[in-house]
Amino acid sequence: MKILVTNDDGIFYQGLWILVKELKNIAEVVVVAPDREQSAVGTAVTLHQPLRVQSVRPLVSEVEAYSVEGTPADSVILALGKLFKNKVDLVISGINQGPNLGDDVLISGTVGAAVQGYLHGFPAFAISVATVDSLHLDNAAKLAALLAKKIDSGALPMNILLNVNLPNLPLTKIKGIKITRLASRSHTDTVEEGHDGVRKYYWLVRQGINKDKDERTDIWAIEQGNISITPLHTNLSDKSSPPIMDSFCSDLFQELQP
Ligand code: MN
Repeated sequence: MKILVTNDDGIFYQGLWILVKELKNIAEVVVVAPDREQSAVGTAVTLHQPLRVQSVRPLVSEVEAYSVEGTPADSVILALGKLFKNKVDLVISGINQGPNLGDDVLISGTVGAAVQGYLHGFPAFAISVATVDSLHLDNAAKLAALLAKKIDSGALPMNILLNVNLPNLPLTKIKGIKITRLASRSHTDTVEEGHDGVRKYYWLVRQGINKDKDERTDIWAIEQGNISITPLHTNLSDKSSPPIMDSFCSDLFQELQP
């Protein structure tokens, strides 16, 4: 098995290399990741400028590693389409520093990279630890290696896209693993205003909240001290569109007529 590892915290972030070190015990590992932090860029792809790639000295020996002057999604597209074409079996993005829960999945660069793996026909997962300091990265690395082994053995469907989050707890304090759905309305956006002496500026502040108290959500699972695994898909269409939409559309078309 050959695993492509990427992230959105930048190629030299320790979470990526702790993951690589653990994965090396069970597979061949290659790294293609952004040359700098690219958190919150979601699935963004660079189409209007060239992508520069640099071979970098790996922090774990015998791992081929490339940094990309681009987004996490760019990195995966480059890896799967060029650098390691036809050579990768699984895409893992992480270990991210900080949670990727609820609606935040839509802007997460960590998830954005995994989405690209999935869209290119590979099993893929994003893995994050739900805190920003003093991380228990070792648990996440161990879990990622176990998941990779399970996926390789066919224990899960191959067209799988998972969003994995761990609470920042020692393994003995983690209660279990829950299959979850994304919590809705999981954050607030506030706009702070300031002045730099020359011009006014705005600062967007995103804060996680938990309004969705359903026990099946990812945020609930994490708050209760569980690992959350959310199976994702990429089709945003609302399957539950009300039947009234049919007549609504024919009426709308009527009104559009001259
Ligand atoms: Mn990040």
